Amino acid sequence: MPALLNRSLVIHPYLVDHASGSYLHLADGRSILDACGGAAVAVIGHGNAEVIAATAAQMQRTSYIHTGAYTTTAAEDLAKFVLECTTAVNGKGIQFTHGLKRAFFVGSGSEANESALKIARQYFFEKGELQRQHYVSRRQAYHGNTFGSMSISSVVGRRIPYEGVLLPNISFVDPAFEYHYRRDNETEEEYAERLVRELEEHFLEIGPEKIISFIAEPVVGATSGCVTAPKGYFSGVRSLCDKYGILLHFDEVLCGMGRTGSYFAFEQEDGGVLPDIVTIGKGLGGGYVPIAAMLVNDRIVDTLRRGSSVFNHGHTFQAHPTACSAALAVQKIIRREGLVSRCGDMGIKLGQCLRAEFGHRQYVGDIRGRGLLWALEFVKDKKTKTPFEASIGFGAQIHQAAFDLGVAVYPCVGTVDGVVGDHILLAPPFNISEIELDIMVSTLRRAYHETSQPHSLT
Ligand code: PMP
Repeated sequence: MPALLNRSLVIHPYLVDHASGSYLHLADGRSILDACGGAAVAVIGHGNAEVIAATAAQMQRTSYIHTGAYTTTAAEDLAKFVLECTTAVNGKGIQFTHGLKRAFFVGSGSEANESALKIARQYFFEKGELQRQHYVSRRQAYHGNTFGSMSISSVVGRRIPYEGVLLPNISFVDPAFEYHYRRDNETEEEYAERLVRELEEHFLEIGPEKIISFIAEPVVGATSGCVTAPKGYFSGVRSLCDKYGILLHFDEVLCGMGRTGSYFAFEQEDGGVLPDIVTIGKGLGGGYVPIAAMLVNDRIVDTLRRGSSVFNHGHTFQAHPTACSAALAVQKIIRREGLVSRCGDMGIKLGQCLRAEFGHRQYVGDIRGRGLLWALEFVKDKKTKTPFEASIGFGAQIHQAAFDLGVAVYPCVGTVDGVVGDHILLAPPFNISEIELDIMVSTLRRAYHETSQPHSLT
């Protein structure tokens, strides 16, 4: 009987003995290729000796300080490093400047988003716009598990036990999801224009002068499975936010720090769409330590500096030196080895393999991805895009079959908001080898074959 309070009190998790490179080694002797990096976390794989050495050295040097009074070189260096991260991907060879000026390190993506909700409100507090008390988020969004971050999330199942006690003054608009919601008679651009128009209507309905921020993942990760926005959508969103003085908060906890082939996913949106606040997490520390961050631009920094209040959102373990030095070691390896652009290149290869292998399969409705973040969405009927009944759980079955064959993928089971069908998510380490990539795809082929047999579909 496990002593840990786990996600499910019924299912026993697998016991991992150790992990190295792209593999998890289970206590029962099996080795599992970690094709999803846990939850899109393990960006350089497991057991990297350089990261371990840097972390141990930091623990010897200074194991803990309280940020109320102190800082460390580890935290300052990581902040500088992260704020310098950009990839010139705007297609014109122009160096991209994102204008993010300060980093705030916390222990999880949820905390980063929690911080972002608070600093956004505080920005308007300092500006004297106290009537701004409302946040706008999107349906099918997941931004975290704490009360605030869950309140801006719309994953119905997770919210159910807490409905009634989540934060008020939050509303949701439609996500940008071409596969399901672009109308047959719409071009990509027209679809983007419609979404922006609908967002403006929503802002006007609420009263734009009451809105604090609009929150979105540039590339939606776990809920609906690597969903990118149509061209023109995010630049339209930025213009709307500017028009009404609303802050734009990009949640890049999953899609940031290189995962989509650029340091920030927003760099690839319409030649670069600049947010006021960005939250990052998973890939920042690559899973070696719990660390996430909120990055804010000078508009926010300057307003708070001039203001009367302090950003009193301190956590005991924020900017923890051990966590910062481990994350810095991870990031230095990524930069030195050119892993962000490798992620983009390997992503193209993975996309080609997935399309060749699954494009014609009966139950694969959509194959979508960017960088090393890919999803296969499964449907009962490709023409009508009808999902399987939740009781069949096609994606969950593929997940289990692949696991039994030695490959772990991220299962996104069942429906989200009762609309989207099931899918699996792939998010391997940026330094995954070509051979491992081939193993991933060929194992998925076998898992698909097993799962699509008639006895699995009733
Ligand atoms: N935002 C996004 C987009 C995420 O994918 C996640 C985690 N899946 C979170 C926030 C929450 O991060 P954490 O689990 O580290 O609190």
